[in-house]
Amino acid sequence: MQKTLVILKPSAVQRGLIGEVITRFEKKGLQLVGMKMVSLTDEILEEHYSHLKEKPFFKRIKDTMQASPVVVLALKGVDAVEVVRKMTGVTNSRDALAGTIRGDYSMSVQENIVHASDSPETAQIELNRFFSEIEIFNYPQLMLPNVYANDEY
Ligand code: UDP
Ligand code: MG
Repeated sequence: MQKTLVILKPSAVQRGLIGEVITRFEKKGLQLVGMKMVSLTDEILEEHYSHLKEKPFFKRIKDTMQASPVVVLALKGVDAVEVVRKMTGVTNSRDALAGTIRGDYSMSVQENIVHASDSPETAQIELNRFFSEIEIFNYPQLMLPNVYANDEY
């Protein structure tokens, strides 16, 4: 099964959406296998958003990601990376479809509530960036037979 990283950004923390967003992932059938609140350092953000480092708005992104602590989640499931990206919606929240997290809770490109890993390779790198080995838990998902058919996982 796949694991993926989600960050509940300061826009989620400040607007009191932590619980609602986590509830969506739980209700979907994803297993929460890691979770903590952290303050993001310059170093970690420069690594995490290295693809945007040359953009004029990079400092703005860094500042907003440091405006409060964030909550990082590790979620596990079949095709978890793609499932979570679909649940997240496109980057510009105004274009994000209703029913997605960004589509339902936000109006902004920048203040778009969640980060989600965009490929299985990125997910592995990002999970290692935010979690140590002992912070990712391996425990039975007791409702597994009600979430998937036995040939799906
Ligand atoms: N971002 C922004 N302006 C832009 C592009 C990105 O403020 O023009 C921010 C936005 O918060 C986005 C994050 O930078 O979520 C990372 O950008 P990316 O292109 O990786 O989008 P994502 O994968 O989050 O949809
Ligand atoms: Mg991205």
